[in-house]
Amino acid sequence: VSFRRCDGPLAAGYDAAFLDLDGVVYVGPDPVPSAPASIESARSGGLRVMFVTNNASRTPDAIARHLTEIGVPAAAGDVVTSAQAVGRMLVELVPSGSDVLVVGGPGLWAEVSAAGMHPVEFFNEASPPHAVVQGYTADMGYPRLAEAALAVRAGAVWIASNVDSTMPSPRGLLPGNGALVAAVRVATGREPTVAGKPFPPLHREAVRRSGARNPLVVGDRLDTDIQGAVATGTDSLLVLSGVTDLAGLAAATADTRPTYLGADISALLEPAPSVRVDSEAGAASCGGARAAVVDAVWHLDGSGLDLARAACALAWARADAGRPLPDLGALSRLSR
Ligand SMILES: [Mg+2]
Repeated sequence: VSFRRCDGPLAAGYDAAFLDLDGVVYVGPDPVPSAPASIESARSGGLRVMFVTNNASRTPDAIARHLTEIGVPAAAGDVVTSAQAVGRMLVELVPSGSDVLVVGGPGLWAEVSAAGMHPVEFFNEASPPHAVVQGYTADMGYPRLAEAALAVRAGAVWIASNVDSTMPSPRGLLPGNGALVAAVRVATGREPTVAGKPFPPLHREAVRRSGARNPLVVGDRLDTDIQGAVATGTDSLLVLSGVTDLAGLAAATADTRPTYLGADISALLEPAPSVRVDSEAGAASCGGARAAVVDAVWHLDGSGLDLARAACALAWARADAGRPLPDLGALSRLSR
């Protein structure tokens, strides 16, 4: 129940890295400052870098151009989207050439066609579609959701690109695809099959396209990136450059705990220290840092990531042993 040690740079221990985008490579409009140089260095050491995103609205080509513009050179073949995973699922679930009702952006439309299906925009009762695929698009509105609900209710296979409840924006958290999927779910009483993280299809697609045998998942969200990695038995690096803070990480249940912790993507180039948790789970240490719980109060000695690692490992050990935890809010000040 702790972080793993890695004596050399993390990048040297894996053949590929599956990088989440927002919160890892960029935050909103700006690149994570260390991302361009870190990714270049990891690549020059032989690491295959793939950009793996739940977002189905943009095409791999558009995403690759965006990455290149912000200083992270990428080709379309380096990008794997949930729309591509949706395409693969369609091939497996419905006959070639089937009508597929598309509720989503250009990235989703393109992959439905590339999968050999016939994308349609409207529900036709006389000839109902075999499947409905639903992904986020900025021009989503009631008419699109209404078509989806009619088709789902008529029995179509229903695939969602992802069920992220929110989506970061410069103005704050906006409704994500999961919120729009929920509208159709409530209206139909049915559940979609999901392509994106934390579900396995997108991860499997990234493995197929990269040929990776031993990938490292790098992400900023516990309930998508890290949970998906745990579910597929893949090692993971959580970075603190996105939405997760240390109080959240310390509260993580076993299915959402990362293998490694880093401040940002530059952690790929660094080793990972060992973390020792004592058998009574009263204290944990990492490097020169030590976290302890005495009389229901945190005692934190040291600083930086080593203290964060010790505190999280201790919190996990105590939670798993059913022992009480002091307020995790005290850990927020350790972030970054
Ligand atoms: Mg993210």
